[in-house]
Amino acid sequence: MKSELKIFNTLTKRKERFTPLVAGKIGMYVCGPTVYGDPHLGHARSAIAFDLVYRYFLHLGNKVRYVRNITDVGHLENDADSGEDKIAHKARIEELEPMEVAQYFTNRYHDTMRMLNNLPPSIEPHASGHVPEQIEMAEAIEKNGFAYRVNGSLYFDVEKYNQSYRYGKLSGRKLEDLLQTTRDNLAKQDEKKNPFDFALWKKADPKHIMRWRSEWSNGFPGWHLECSVMSTKYLGEQFDIHGGGMDLLFPHHECEIAQSVAANGKESVHYWMHNNMITVDGQKMGKSLGNFITLYEFFKGNHQRLERAYSPMTIRFFILQAHYRSPLDFSNQALQSSEKGMQRLLQAWETLQNIKPVENDGLLVEPWFDKLYAAINDDFNTPVLIAHLFDLVKEINKLKVGEQTIDELNLQQLLKLYADFVFDILGLKAEKQIADGNNEMTAELIDLLLNVRKEMKTNKMYALSDQIRNQLQEKGVVIKDLKDGFEWEMKK
Ligand code: ZN
Repeated sequence: MKSELKIFNTLTKRKERFTPLVAGKIGMYVCGPTVYGDPHLGHARSAIAFDLVYRYFLHLGNKVRYVRNITDVGHLENDADSGEDKIAHKARIEELEPMEVAQYFTNRYHDTMRMLNNLPPSIEPHASGHVPEQIEMAEAIEKNGFAYRVNGSLYFDVEKYNQSYRYGKLSGRKLEDLLQTTRDNLAKQDEKKNPFDFALWKKADPKHIMRWRSEWSNGFPGWHLECSVMSTKYLGEQFDIHGGGMDLLFPHHECEIAQSVAANGKESVHYWMHNNMITVDGQKMGKSLGNFITLYEFFKGNHQRLERAYSPMTIRFFILQAHYRSPLDFSNQALQSSEKGMQRLLQAWETLQNIKPVENDGLLVEPWFDKLYAAINDDFNTPVLIAHLFDLVKEINKLKVGEQTIDELNLQQLLKLYADFVFDILGLKAEKQIADGNNEMTAELIDLLLNVRKEMKTNKMYALSDQIRNQLQEKGVVIKDLKDGFEWEMKK
């Protein structure tokens, strides 16, 4: 049952039974962020989609090496081979060192990913830390005849490659069509032979800070190269899964395949997985559209599109309620219903702790076991999985009011099954646990203090109640007073 995992492979465009290269050991590479701005919902979606994959493989008892990169050099504006490096651009505006920009946003990426309860990857390589390896791969591609030099830059020769292999096999694009559509757009000053050729190495102009020495010029690697290099460096020339957002499918991943084949004579990746995008109120997210909401803005509620703040776990659950290959539309309404749904799941766990088993049999857990595994094994079908969990919550609530019974053995199985899926696989957490680093006792004590403070306020002991609030705030506890109570969270 547990071994029948099927994954939709973008390369073959169908669901395939998953068979790892080495039984019990999984290698997975996922494209990480370009660290020049705050992480947003799109970053959260990709990270959560593959966190689920990672968690499920771990749950099944595999050894997993999960590699997710940090792009800190070489990603030019508009994802093309011209324009300024995104990080260098930000550094110029902010008057910072490029590595200062990269470090600052890397830290903020880590911070938000941790709040979303994403497990950190096993290895997180930086592009800037792997320039010699990138030069090596570009040399191999040139030596094999798939690259050409122009003015100190080295470009991948897509037409040449397409004579021996097929460029476009992942995205389903044909070179002839690409030629047709891109020829008109080819700028006169472009030094490439064809518009779809891409840079392996770019000569740096005199103002460019991030530069390395190579036989071609003082310059920097092309954006696509780092992922081919770092995936094979840490996972081997062939590995199981390569993931990323659908927006990276073309040209980024198409170019990765071409580079690996041109350098090593074979493809690296067995299963390509792509998560779909997020829209905001039906529109594509974009800085110019005013609907570009960062994760910190979600957590604090300080964006004009947000009716209020949404916790990291609400965001996580909202994302998991859609299948990773389906589009997902953000709205306040959708997030608020996610929040309610998640609370129902977590509440049922609490309920389950107080259920007393009976001698005679009642609820049988095995059919639920089969249903839940069938859903996750079907290409990580979380919406179906969560629908089953909601049905299971109904049964748990029947146990609570005595409309249903359960024996000891089934109760133990149910507790394990529920915890496995809700906490280990979906990665949900009771919010206060994550806020204070798993310390439930601290959370209970803060609750206690705040309940005392509430009593004080009722009795008009305002000075003392303010003192409690201020001192808790100094310790990083952010308190929100509500009409009939309070909410709190740990400030980051
Ligand atoms: Zn990549």
